[in-house]
Amino acid sequence: MGKLYIVATPIGNLEDITLRAINVLRSVDLIAAEDTRHTLKLLNHLEISKPLISYHRHNEELRVDLLIEKLKEGQNVALVCDAGTPGICDPGEEIVRKCIEEEIEIIPIPGACAIINALVCSGLDTKEFIFIGFLPLNKKSRKNKLEEIKNAKKTIIFYEAPHKLKITLLDLKEVIGKRKIVLARELTKIHEEFIRGDIDYILSKVDNIKGEMVILVEKAEEDNNDFDYNNISLEEHYKIYEEQGLDKKEIIKRIAKDRKVNKNEIYKEFLN
Ligand code: SAM
Repeated sequence: MGKLYIVATPIGNLEDITLRAINVLRSVDLIAAEDTRHTLKLLNHLEISKPLISYHRHNEELRVDLLIEKLKEGQNVALVCDAGTPGICDPGEEIVRKCIEEEIEIIPIPGACAIINALVCSGLDTKEFIFIGFLPLNKKSRKNKLEEIKNAKKTIIFYEAPHKLKITLLDLKEVIGKRKIVLARELTKIHEEFIRGDIDYILSKVDNIKGEMVILVEKAEEDNNDFDYNNISLEEHYKIYEEQGLDKKEIIKRIAKDRKVNKNEIYKEFLN
């Protein structure tokens, strides 16, 4: 029985490949790659020549059977993606699951991963975090996802494509409100940059921004959830959200939710 190696490759800087990864890529019989042309460039740089087979989202199911066959024949296989760690917002899950079923050994070869490097330089809490990957494309599903996580007392991390960055930031502003945000851009590359600030500051910086991006959001305040809002006046309650830059409609909605009453009751109170 062969072994499956899950091999991390650089996320920009070609020097970020480990000695162990190089040795594994040199010693395996076959390399399964998300994009064979992309991986070929890395292999050429490392002066490694190996048979390559494509393994991407659209052929994952078909390829799994073929790779399992090869592994059962005794071939050792390395799985790589275009950048970073396979399986993290990249293909990998399927083959790993199947190898477990077939009792084939899986060996991780650690290396670059954008989430971890963004987090450790963000200045945000690194003890606990939630990784969302890419937000759903559908507007309603995106909002639902953000609602689901907004009160988490953990740093929230997203991946995002540059052309969707602004939309995502506007959604964050609407659902999460004013909180510290960090954009980790072009990690390990020449134009690597960390932009830190509140949502309005970040929004003012992103017109025409290019490159790969990780978005990190500060965790919710410790006492946000447990605080009994019925102990403060409606006016004080209103002011808390007003200071976060929310509009009247959103403030009323949140007050109603915090006080566990219908929002019409809050409207009526304010009218009185
Ligand atoms: N498997 C990869 C990993 O281990 O991080 C992630 C692949 S995912 C398809 C691509 C996303 O990762 C990008 O849209 C971006 O959000 C993030 N990313 C990848 N490389 C990056 C870099 N050099 N700087 C910032 N973000 C990066």
